[in-house]
Amino acid sequence: MILPILTYPNDSLRKPTQPVAFPLSAEIKKLTKDMIETVQKADGIGLAAPQVGKSVKLIVVNLEKSELPPFALYNAKVVKKGFKKIEVEEGCLSLPGIFGNVKRPKQVTIEAQNGQGKTIRITDDGWVSRVAQHEIDHTNGVLIIDLIKKYTAGQEIVKQWKKDKLI
Ligand SMILES: [Zn+2]
Repeated sequence: MILPILTYPNDSLRKPTQPVAFPLSAEIKKLTKDMIETVQKADGIGLAAPQVGKSVKLIVVNLEKSELPPFALYNAKVVKKGFKKIEVEEGCLSLPGIFGNVKRPKQVTIEAQNGQGKTIRITDDGWVSRVAQHEIDHTNGVLIIDLIKKYTAGQEIVKQWKKDKLI
């Protein structure tokens, strides 16, 4: 089922999230499946549960263009950051029309649980690293508008939000 993607300033995007418990409930299994369908349909590379109104620590990564099947991570967190930081242009399905350069560590190690509740560690310095950092931020209520120093599109929208005290 395709879920509506909530856009800023929807409250869900800033709410604290709860950890996912194992074994997975039928509700979380369904949410995972729906989020994967939703991110594929939206042609996005990642999606976090708060973006569909669910305050839980669930993210999906969809890098099919990198020949990776879409996958879900539960309770994901960054446990190690590489010294080198790089700036990459990012957008967000919850912030349509807004793009800007975000500086993040190039390499991170992510610890998470898979669908079976097994703890896994992923170390990456490419797209998985970038997308996972963006989506983990979502589960902590952090958005790219908190991180962008230089906008490449949509700066006027952000200016207006600041004026209206929505940021
Ligand atoms: Zn996003």
